[in-house]
Amino acid sequence: MSSSLHDNPVREAPSTPFDNSYARLPQQFFAEQAPTPVREPRLIKFNAALARDLGLDAEALERDGAAIFSGNKPLPGAQPLAMAYAGHQFGSFVPQLGDGRAILLGEVVDRHGRRRDIQLKGAGPTPFSRRGDGRAALGPVLREYIVSEAMHALGIPTTRALAAVTTGEPVYREDVLPGAVFTRVAASHIRVGTFQFFAARGDTDNLRILADHVIDRHYPDIKDRKNRYLALLEAVAERQASLIARWLHVGFIHGVMNTDNMTVSGETIDFGPCAFMDAYDPATVFSSIDRQGRYAYANQPGIGQWNLARLGETLLPLIDPTLDTAVDLANTVIKGYGERFQGHWLAGMRAKIGLGDEDDGDLDLIQSLLAVMQQGQADFSLTFRRLTALAASDEAETAFAASFTDPQSIMPWLARWRERLSRESRSAAERPSAMRRINPAFIPRNHRIEQAIQAAMEDDDFSLFEALLTVLAKPYEDQPAFAPYAEPPRPAERVLQTFCGT
Ligand code: AMP
Ligand code: MG
Repeated sequence: MSSSLHDNPVREAPSTPFDNSYARLPQQFFAEQAPTPVREPRLIKFNAALARDLGLDAEALERDGAAIFSGNKPLPGAQPLAMAYAGHQFGSFVPQLGDGRAILLGEVVDRHGRRRDIQLKGAGPTPFSRRGDGRAALGPVLREYIVSEAMHALGIPTTRALAAVTTGEPVYREDVLPGAVFTRVAASHIRVGTFQFFAARGDTDNLRILADHVIDRHYPDIKDRKNRYLALLEAVAERQASLIARWLHVGFIHGVMNTDNMTVSGETIDFGPCAFMDAYDPATVFSSIDRQGRYAYANQPGIGQWNLARLGETLLPLIDPTLDTAVDLANTVIKGYGERFQGHWLAGMRAKIGLGDEDDGDLDLIQSLLAVMQQGQADFSLTFRRLTALAASDEAETAFAASFTDPQSIMPWLARWRERLSRESRSAAERPSAMRRINPAFIPRNHRIEQAIQAAMEDDDFSLFEALLTVLAKPYEDQPAFAPYAEPPRPAERVLQTFCGT
C-alpha cells in the first residue's frame, strides 16, 4: 500500500485561477454537470504555449494532462456546466439544443486581461444530450485541433485547442471509433442560439441579462451608447462581416453555419465538417449532410446575414418597446451588413493581388481573376501564392500560369494586372512581402488532415498530425522542408466529403 502510494503519488490538481462569470448567471442559462470519467485516458497533445498565455501552470497541467483533460480529475475552482441554447439547424428552428457533449469548466483571465472559457468537448452526457452519447471520436477531435490552430496562425479569429486525449473507450457511430476529448478555449461559447433560447421562451428578463453579459464581456465600448442593444447587433454584424470575409480569403468552408454554431464574439467555432477548398469553385461543399449546398463556400456571407437577422429578431424587445420601430432599426443594421462584408472582402482581395491603392476597376479585376481560376480549375491558395512570387520576379510567370488547365487563359488578365500595378503609389519592391502576409503557402488541406487522422486511428501514429501542426504554425513562411504540404492533392488523394463530428 505504502509503496504503491509512493509509486503513484496522489497529486493535487494544479490550482487554476478560475473566475466563472457564466456560472453566476441565472439558473436558466445552464445545467450543472460534471464530466463523466473515462476508462483509460491518454494525453495525445497539449498546447503548452496557449496554457502559459492563459496564465496557467503549463508544466503541472501537462504532467497530469491525461486525468485533467479527460475530465477524470476535477480542477479546483472549476464549476462544470452545460450551456443552454437553441438554434436554427439548416433553416429549421430547434427551441432546445444546448451542450450535449461539451462541458464548460470555467473561465480564466489570460495574460492580456482577456476572459476565456475552458471547455471539454466529448466529456460525457448532459441534460441536453437528447439521444447522443455525449462523446466525441478521435478523428473529429484531431480535425478540430489542426484546423482551429491553423486558423489562429493564419490570423483569423477562432477558438483554440488546449489539449486532446483519447479515452480508451469506443464510441459507436456508423463504425466503432476510438473516443477522445478535446479541450477548447474560447472568448466565450455564447452563440446566436443562446439568444434564441430565451427569445423562444418569451423570457425578456433573461434575454436582457444575457445581452448585458455579452456587452460587458465582448463589447465594453458600447456600454454607454444610447441604444446599446442595437449597438450590440451592429457590433456582432461588424465582427461577423470581417470574419466571414477572412474565411473567403483563405478558401475556408465552415460547413455547418447553423445559428448555434455562430458565436457573438466573432470567433470561428465548431469545426465539424469544415474544409479548405483546393481548386477554386464558389459552389464547393464538403459536408456530407449539406445536400442542398446551403453552406457552400460562396453562400457563407449570405448565411451570415441570415443568422444575424435571427439574432436581430431576438433583440427586438430590447431595441425598442414599439415593435415597428425596433424592426426598422434592426433592419437597417442587417442591411448594412452587406456593405460591411463587401468592404472587408474587397479590401482583402485587393491585398491578395498586391494592390495598396483603391481604383474603381478593382472589383472587376478581381472577379475576372476568379472567373479564370474557376474555368481553369486553379488551386485557390497556390494561385495567389504564385502570384505573390510573380510580383517579386517575372521569372515566376510560367509557374503561375501552370496553375490553370490552359496556361494561356490567364495571359489577358495578367496584362490587365500589370497595367493596374503600374498605377500603384506603393513601390513594387514592397509588394511581395505585403502579398506574402495575406496569401498563405500552407493551409490545412483536407487530404493531409485525412491522412493524419487515418495514421492516428489505424496505427496509433501521430507523426503526421504533429507534422501538420508544425507546418501550419507558420502558414505565411516558405518552409522549403515542407514544400509538399503546399501542394494540392493528387487525383487519388482528393477528399470530396467530410463528416460531422457527432
Ligand atoms: P454540432 O453539430 O456539433 O454543432 O451539435 C449540434 C447539437 O447536437 C448540439 O446541441 C450538440 O451538443 C449536440 N450533439 C452533437 N453530438 C453529440 C453527442 N455525441 N452527444 C450528445 N449531443 C451531441
Ligand atoms: Mg455546435
